[in-house]
Amino acid sequence: MKRALSASCHCGAVTWSLAERPDKLVRCNCSLCRRVGSLWVHAEQAGTELSYAPEKVVKYAHGDKTLSVVSCAVCGNTTHYEGLGEYADRCAVNATMADPAELDGIPVKHFDGAESWQYLD
Ligand SMILES: [Zn+2]
Repeated sequence: MKRALSASCHCGAVTWSLAERPDKLVRCNCSLCRRVGSLWVHAEQAGTELSYAPEKVVKYAHGDKTLSVVSCAVCGNTTHYEGLGEYADRCAVNATMADPAELDGIPVKHFDGAESWQYLD
């Protein structure tokens, strides 16, 4: 079945694809996201295909450990995060892995993860 949006890290060890085209890309200014430069698409794990060999990734859970940020251990790209515990049904993929042409027309929203936890636009 054709997936709505697919991408991989630079070396191809980690891939993801979404069942539905995103309605927004989220730029977050929290201490982690601002370093990564990620453009998140929040999704349900159920409709998202995440593919990687466990030994080819590094997982990083910080703070209250509600999610694990996944980066390729080969090329270093941060590809997605996976929810943990009560959030285990959720995930987000990093749309900067996608072909920019495939993101045309999808608005970027700015989330203030550093302070208010509100969208700024
Ligand atoms: Zn890689």
